[in-house]
Order: sequence, then C-alpha cells, then structure tokens
Amino acid sequence: MVSRADFNSPESPTWCIGCGNYGILNAVKMAFAELDIAPHEILICTGIGCGSKLPHYMKVNGFHGLHGRPLAVATGARLANHGFRVMTVHGDGDGYGMGLSHFAHAARRNIGLVDLVQNNRVYGLTKGQYSPTSTPGMHTPTSPEGAIDLPVPPLALAITMGATFVARVYPGELRHFVSVLVQALQHDGYALVDVLQPCVTFNRASAYDFYSARVYKVEETDHDVTDRAAAWGKALEWGERIPIGLIYRVQGQPTYEEQVPALQEGPLAERPLTKLSADQVAALRAEVM
Ligand code: SF4
Repeated sequence: MVSRADFNSPESPTWCIGCGNYGILNAVKMAFAELDIAPHEILICTGIGCGSKLPHYMKVNGFHGLHGRPLAVATGARLANHGFRVMTVHGDGDGYGMGLSHFAHAARRNIGLVDLVQNNRVYGLTKGQYSPTSTPGMHTPTSPEGAIDLPVPPLALAITMGATFVARVYPGELRHFVSVLVQALQHDGYALVDVLQPCVTFNRASAYDFYSARVYKVEETDHDVTDRAAAWGKALEWGERIPIGLIYRVQGQPTYEEQVPALQEGPLAERPLTKLSADQVAALRAEVM
C-alpha cells in the first residue's frame, strides 16, 4: 500500500512561507497515495516557474524542461509508454502564455494526462510581472500603469477546445482539492485541473483572504457537469463568487492513444524489437545517441 510519505524527497522546497505550492505538493502526494499509485509508475513534467520545481520535491520520475513546453514532453512520453501515469505541473505563465497552443491542442486531442496549472495570476519566479491571467489594471514592473490585456479564461478555453475533464481547485480546501485530483487521475483522457494558487509575495490582492471569501463548491449546487453550455457559464463565473470543483466532464470519448494503431498492442516501451535484427538495432542506437 502506497503512502504519502513514499513520495518524500530529500530536497526541501525553496518556496516562500505561505505559498500555495505547499498545498499543491501535499495534494498531489495525497491523490497518488489514495489511488495506490507507486512513485515509479508516475512521470511529472514541468516547465519554468516557482511551482515547476515540484518534481525535485517528490520521489517520482520527473522532467523539468523548457518554459511552456511540458505538455509537448508529456505527450511524447505518454505515447512512448501509455502505461505511465503522466502529469504536467506548471504555472499560468507557462501553461496559458508560452504554452497556450500546447494547452489547446492537448485538450482537443484528448491525450491521457492530468494538466495541473498553478494559476497564481502573476510571474512569481521572475519577481512579479503581470501574467496571462492577471487582473486588468494590476500594477506590476511590466504594467506600471495597470495591465491592459483581458485575462485568458482557461476553463472556458479548455471546454471550447474539446477537453473532456475541466476542474478548478483551491489549496485552502485541501480535502476537496484531493478528491477532484483523484477524479482527474481516474479520467480517461485530457484532464485540466486549474489551481487558484495564492502567491503571497507578488500577488497579495489575490491570496488566501480573496479566495477564501469567494470560493464555493459546485458539487453543492445543482450544476450538471455533462451540460456543456452550463459548464461554459460556470467556467466564466468570476467575481464575488468563484466556483471550484468539477465543472465539465465527458465520459467514454476515446483517448488519442487509444486511436493510434501502433499503440494497440501495448506500450511501445515494453515491446521487444522483434522485427529488427541486432545490427539494425545497433545502427539505430548509434544514429540517435
Ligand atoms: Fe510562491 Fe509567489 Fe513565492 Fe513563487 S514568489 S514561491 S509563487 S509565494
């Protein structure tokens, strides 16, 4: 039986005290433990940002890569070995800025992975520039007179692009966060989990006080997660009340990897290279190594 402690790493997080990333790290460990998924069965791909350091703080397979590109790496890894549990963990700048096109295409492909976005609505690692989800009017070093751009609406965009699982969570509601993440990990296909992540250093206007006063759980309403139009409405609800929980889900839609003929006989990584001679394998290795 896997426990949360099985994911502990010898490295200690360097995040600011009070950062929402601590809750995210806990929730990820708790969800994998609840599903009894062992560290060696998991791959977490990250980009660049405070939260993208997460694989250093967990004992799992990790790939800490380029800014905005973890979904590309995760897609490749999933196709090479769809026996792996693949998760991307990255911030709003990484996921909804530099990686916006990867986000849109992963959603429409229905590739089987969990895309967890630490949405703190600011660039934290580079000291507080406004991000793709920042509030209009927000004053930062790169928007001294107030941000002008409209924020990216990630949940509505995911639904529009064909995502089959769209959810939002908040680290201040940890048990609820874990229960939604467990559902995302059990989902067949692309699952977006947008996290309202407090950045207590560079976005104090949108930290714990702001969210705790506003979030409510959609599961406690009569919201129908299969109703696309209703989900779109919930996805765009933002203000005095902010919905968290599972917003939209489509079940039974084939995943990308289920439709690739070459993957029908099982994960590529586990198949013997029976159709190639030893010389051909050696030549291939020499070419790519
Ligand atoms: Fe967390 Fe913000 Fe500090 Fe980065 S800068 S570690 S996001 S609180």
